Amino acid sequence: MAIAAVLLSSACARSAPSEQSAAPAQVHASVDPPTPTDSAGPPEFNASRAMEYVKEIVTFGPRPLGSKNHEKVENYILSHLKGVEVEHDNFDINTSEGHFPVHNILAKFPGTRDGIIVIASHYDTNWPLRNTSFAGANDGASSSALLLEIANQLRGKKIEGYSVWLLWDDAEESMKLPWDDPQSLYGVRHLAQKWQDDGTAKKIKAFLLEDMVGDADLNIDRVLEGTPWVEDLIYQAAVNVGYQSHFFARQMSVVDDFKPFLERGVPSADLIDLNYGYNNVFHHTTQDTVDKLSPKSLGIVGTVTLETVRLLNQR
Ligand code: ZN
Repeated sequence: MAIAAVLLSSACARSAPSEQSAAPAQVHASVDPPTPTDSAGPPEFNASRAMEYVKEIVTFGPRPLGSKNHEKVENYILSHLKGVEVEHDNFDINTSEGHFPVHNILAKFPGTRDGIIVIASHYDTNWPLRNTSFAGANDGASSSALLLEIANQLRGKKIEGYSVWLLWDDAEESMKLPWDDPQSLYGVRHLAQKWQDDGTAKKIKAFLLEDMVGDADLNIDRVLEGTPWVEDLIYQAAVNVGYQSHFFARQMSVVDDFKPFLERGVPSADLIDLNYGYNNVFHHTTQDTVDKLSPKSLGIVGTVTLETVRLLNQR
């Protein structure tokens, strides 16, 4: 996974500590009361099925670039996208660790409106930890599984609104630890450039990134780099479905997959909980295992994501 950064303490910071505690009332002052959803109630999301997907992905073991396990998880994702329009974005990279193929996987669900909502997660695991038992249950598997379950909810339905594109991006993790900006985020950097060149970037209404979304002790952070109105909309969505107590008690600075899209003016946000274990101690360690996760957390983030999509279509 990825990411980055953060700053929970000077010991693990690779950027200046910038965590800020903010009174929730201040941060969310502009949020409206819950807006009524339609009679069908909140969006559907099968959390226990998403949790099964997490377990199955973790069973492959470490999934670093160029590995057999990486190929297995690619095939696993594709096997869940039967009947869906899938686009492959394949290219090669040269890194200080060698030459690798990179495979972004995109599933497209066409909508009735002109415009695209992208929901993304990386699926690779960390190269520097490739020879350990690190299998990224939260870092990579949780968000990849969440997208698979969103695909289940979208498959075969007429999407009344913007098209939804689900992106499993590759080579997100840094080739070196601590995090090395030039040697990370390869998949999204490639795709953001491609979409800028072919005009797709202008059609993206919002880029929603999922990362570290399975922690049983779920506290999604407000990310300072995120586009403020998209972050606000996520909080509004959380309020609408009654999960706001899990959102935005903290705000912090993060380097993550949304960066190349933000740099190109695409409205973007990151649904991430970077307090995985006290002071984020499980992140990028062999302690990142399924027993730390909860289907309830996947359900909360999945439901809020789908509600955010609904709100994006109301704007
Ligand atoms: Zn990571």
